Amino acid sequence: MKDFHLLIAEWYRQNKRELPWRSTKNAYFIWLSEIILQQTRIEQGKSYYEKFVRNYPNIQALANADEIDILNDWQGLGYYSRARNLHFSAKQVVNEFDGVFPSTYDDIIKLKGVGKYTAAAIASFAFNEQRAVVDGNVFRFLSRLFDVHTPIDSTQGQKEFQALADELILNSDPATHNQGIMEIGSLICSPQPKCSKCPMMEHCTAFIRGTIVALPVKSKKTKVRKRYFHFLVYSENNHLILEKRSTKDIWQNLYQFPLVELENDKADLPEVFKSQTFESETFKHILSHQHIFAVFHHFDSIPDDLNRDWIEVKGNEIQDYPLPRLIDRYLENTSTQW
Ligand code: SF4
Repeated sequence: MKDFHLLIAEWYRQNKRELPWRSTKNAYFIWLSEIILQQTRIEQGKSYYEKFVRNYPNIQALANADEIDILNDWQGLGYYSRARNLHFSAKQVVNEFDGVFPSTYDDIIKLKGVGKYTAAAIASFAFNEQRAVVDGNVFRFLSRLFDVHTPIDSTQGQKEFQALADELILNSDPATHNQGIMEIGSLICSPQPKCSKCPMMEHCTAFIRGTIVALPVKSKKTKVRKRYFHFLVYSENNHLILEKRSTKDIWQNLYQFPLVELENDKADLPEVFKSQTFESETFKHILSHQHIFAVFHHFDSIPDDLNRDWIEVKGNEIQDYPLPRLIDRYLENTSTQW
């Protein structure tokens, strides 16, 4: 294993993609990129990274911003808890680290929304600390390189793969090594691997033994919860009703049409839906652990007594409010004009 890091580094220097966060050692910018790229594809994440760097050029600017502006800038990326954690952590850095982004793994991991992988990525990319990253791409690559069949979602698997990654990073340039191993996992050792282009082919145990398709092993299936949302789309004279989601659930602090959630698809709609005036529109929206079946019911008047959490907004100002992607999709597709 002792020369593997040289092969990885060499391959990375010649094949890496030029990405905006790779040309900086600024830990704040690297942190932004890492949080944006959690659960987001690189192509989609790029424009958001550039927007955040432009609108919040330093940690103080992010800490002093209004949450509604940050959520608005995040709109379309989903998993809004990441945006709230960014804001929370920016204030944490200002208050607990004198406004200077922490420079060690042990301090970086204290920030909200930063786990082992993200702390190792920032500590190595920005400060060259020797901390091995293990993300989904690295799990796949290492499981095949060493033909390891321990489930990657088990405690034992996490330990084994972290130990392998820790051994591989020894004696290397940590920033290059970590980025290289992730890049090979992403571009070459992908779910359908391109072994003929892989710098590790001669050394890859799964390739030699023919076990690639079985790897990596996962023990659990992701449990998916089905939810049934019925939205009340009240509109009158180009005005609409929105409500803020205040409960601790998906989309906390975002805005939506007033919602009634039903237990299942057989449950009766409450009385309020009986006065629906024109057609409803149905959407299926998929999140990692939830499948949402949403019906938007249209009403051509606004009730006289509004619920306490409801606000009346002009139809052309709705995009000024941070909205879940599902509501955005509805607005893009509906034929209704306000
Ligand atoms: S040879 Fe194929 S399976 Fe092995 S590490 Fe390279 S891409 Fe992955």
